Amino acid sequence: MAIASINPTNGETLKSFEALSAAQLEQKLQLAADVFRTYRHTSMEERAPLMLRAAEILESEKQEFGRVMTLEMGKPLKAAIAEAEKCALVCRYYAEKARHHLADQIIETNAQKSYVHFQPLGPVLAVMPWNFPFWQVFRFAAPALMAGNVGLLKHASNVPQCALAIEEIFTRAGFPQGAFQTLLTGSDAVEGILNDPRVVAATLTGSEPAGRSVASIAGKQIKKTVLELGGSDPFIVMPSANLNEAVTTAVKARTINNGQSCIAAKRFIVHAEIYDEFERSFVEQMRALKIGDPMEDTTDIGPLATPQIVNDLDEQVKKAVSSGARVLTGGKKIDGPGNFFEPTVLVDVDINAPVSCEEIFGPVAMLFRVSDIDEAIEIANATTFGLGSAAWTNDAGERARFINELEAGAVFINGMVASDPRLPFGGVKNSGYGRELAEFGIREFVNIKTVWIK
Ligand code: NAP
Repeated sequence: MAIASINPTNGETLKSFEALSAAQLEQKLQLAADVFRTYRHTSMEERAPLMLRAAEILESEKQEFGRVMTLEMGKPLKAAIAEAEKCALVCRYYAEKARHHLADQIIETNAQKSYVHFQPLGPVLAVMPWNFPFWQVFRFAAPALMAGNVGLLKHASNVPQCALAIEEIFTRAGFPQGAFQTLLTGSDAVEGILNDPRVVAATLTGSEPAGRSVASIAGKQIKKTVLELGGSDPFIVMPSANLNEAVTTAVKARTINNGQSCIAAKRFIVHAEIYDEFERSFVEQMRALKIGDPMEDTTDIGPLATPQIVNDLDEQVKKAVSSGARVLTGGKKIDGPGNFFEPTVLVDVDINAPVSCEEIFGPVAMLFRVSDIDEAIEIANATTFGLGSAAWTNDAGERARFINELEAGAVFINGMVASDPRLPFGGVKNSGYGRELAEFGIREFVNIKTVWIK
């Protein structure tokens, strides 16, 4: 199995790595089990300074970490640097809040004293994607380590340098050797790792097929999983919205991270009264985006992470067109070295064609014209996914309906969906289950122990 950094901007192989041998993997799993035996007994007061030190390393070396991310997966450098800063934020959040989120909770019963006590579970496997190669890992690792668990990272095979850099951050921060380890393996090794009794639970952020596979293996072993999977988020715009702001935000929400975000807005559902103006301005702004070298400060959209993603996107656009869609701008791969695809706007997509609600992982937007809020909600919910959703309106009645009726793990009114350490993050339907971030995230991998004393 090849584990290699290949620069998506020019196709150059930067570094390749041998996957761990069976003996090396065994050593790492044993180290995780051994370190858990002592690490679990450390106090919050001992863990917090280590997590704060990790935050400091992220902040002081954000340029270098940003560069590694951009070199391996192509996001604009300024976004990669911001990602390193956001990782520092989540470390600081849990360094400060973990003790409150996991403090004993006294509950009055007929006992002399009864309470809930939170305890770590053990080594947790994290199977992670390349699209936010630092953030996805830190939002798992910060709460897991603060809760007293031990982390085992199986990162996506195209971002091995990010994976190794993250392990090093935790080591340099002073966490015990083995408290957070990167396992350089392909996805073919995941089943064996999950079946190993020393690994007690798993979290996967990635595609729906990967989630199904990991959840079914873990299910047979009765091991808890959290799944953060794909999305086809709706972005609804109603007549009372601030249209200029909605359009600018819509373009950003579709093209952030070169269009490769699970919570990117993918379907734009716009009321007929304002549709024409929205379409005109949206297309104009998509056309104006600067595509190019992600290391350049002025670049809006860099290359997609792999040639496979470009091909998948190309197929999806062709499928949409063959089922009646029209391309208003873009629609094609860009020739030459690097995995570039034109920012694309599709209209007249048949809402009965599967592509209308599949996940489209790249800078391709679909616009839908609707005549009222009922139709908007119906189209928004006509997908098997349920990750995020955004609705733009200044009407209180409409706002209440969107909050209640959109089938998603998050509803953002007059804004774009984004993650924040203070707010829970996760999906419903085929977007997965469980939550990351906030108090909900840190309670996923703990034993919620009932204590009853007479
Ligand atoms: P992916 O192909 O599913 O890969 C994600 C991770 O799963 C990688 O480490 C991959 O390893 C591993 N993997 C793939 N197939 C597997 C299998 N059958 N068994 C065990 N592990 C397996 O997804 P991706 O292309 O990297 O990432 C894009 C997807 O992630 C999109 O669907 C996106 O929406 C989703 N995502 C969701 C969230 C969220 O929070 N909900 C956040 C970010 C991304 P290899 O690289 O070695 O194949």
